[in-house]
Amino acid sequence: AAKAAGRNRFAVFEPAMREHVVAQTQLARDLRTAAGSGQFSLLYQPQVDLRSGRVTGVEALARWHHPARGLVLPDTFIPVAESTGTVDLIDDWALAEACRQLAAWDAAGLPRLRVAVNISAHRLARGDLAPSVGSSARAAGIDPGRLEIEVTETATTSCADEAARTLQEVRALGVSIAIDDFGTGHSSFGRLRVLPVDRLKIDRSFIATLDGRAGAGSIAGAMVAMGRSLGLDVVAEGVETAEQLDALRALGCNAVQGWLFGRPMGAGEIDSLLRSSSRVPAPRRRSPDQPT
Ligand code: C2E
Ligand code: MG
Ligand code: MG
Ligand code: MG
Repeated sequence: AAKAAGRNRFAVFEPAMREHVVAQTQLARDLRTAAGSGQFSLLYQPQVDLRSGRVTGVEALARWHHPARGLVLPDTFIPVAESTGTVDLIDDWALAEACRQLAAWDAAGLPRLRVAVNISAHRLARGDLAPSVGSSARAAGIDPGRLEIEVTETATTSCADEAARTLQEVRALGVSIAIDDFGTGHSSFGRLRVLPVDRLKIDRSFIATLDGRAGAGSIAGAMVAMGRSLGLDVVAEGVETAEQLDALRALGCNAVQGWLFGRPMGAGEIDSLLRSSSRVPAPRRRSPDQPT
């Protein structure tokens, strides 16, 4: 929608705009050949369960190693891939790769993790996600119950019925469903009740304001309460400070993910992290009348 509006607004292309369009077109062309040519990799970011203090899952995040441009981040290439449809190939590759990695970690004797894979609105709308998830799991020999797919609220609201049906099929395989970047789209309480959803991932913009000031946590608090009242797990993304962690614990959040616990890292680093079997730092005790 934003793209269509942009096209109408700029009837005459400025040179800079023109350059941008050329660059995007080139990127789109490169993406088509990149998919399936070994230029993509996955990094994994730990997710920590707050009850046990252990890493119980990881989120797979794609990286593109462009032969000329070097490392390209998803915020640059996913929107282009989404607008051209190439994202379907990337998402299917990521699913298969994440399953293979899960099997490799199992074989190496690591504690059994869950792996979450991001699925774009475009891929979700195609309607044949479940067979792809099923065959990826089967090919790697892993239980689909160890997979999670992350979709945004927006992805579930465009073609709502089709999306809901697809999510139901995926969930019937035992895969859990997480709503990503929760709070930035527009899903309603009623809609969340009918969608097959297991977890809410609170967008990091609502975590960034959890700085210990009175009232700072009210939005995040309302989201946690809403999720819990629907019987959902609530995960906070983008947790960077001990203050945010303390606040999230107090709010009753189930799990956390963010730089405080680990940046997205290679599969080998996840292996080392889990072998060191470290737990998250114990919550700092802070009484209300103690100055902070
Ligand atoms: P996301 O799924 O919401 O992933 C979280 C993003 O926040 C990641 O950015 C992650 O590196 C970053 N992040 C994690 N912890 C922190 C933190 O503590 N502070 C800050 N400032 N950032 C943090 P990344 O890896 O650049 O990915 C960006 C987005 O690209 C993802 O957002 C996801 O929507 C999309 N994406 C990534 N991989 C794939 C993929 O395989 N398929 C699809 N369709 N989308 C993908
Ligand atoms: Mg995600
Ligand atoms: Mg997110
Ligand atoms: Mg995001």
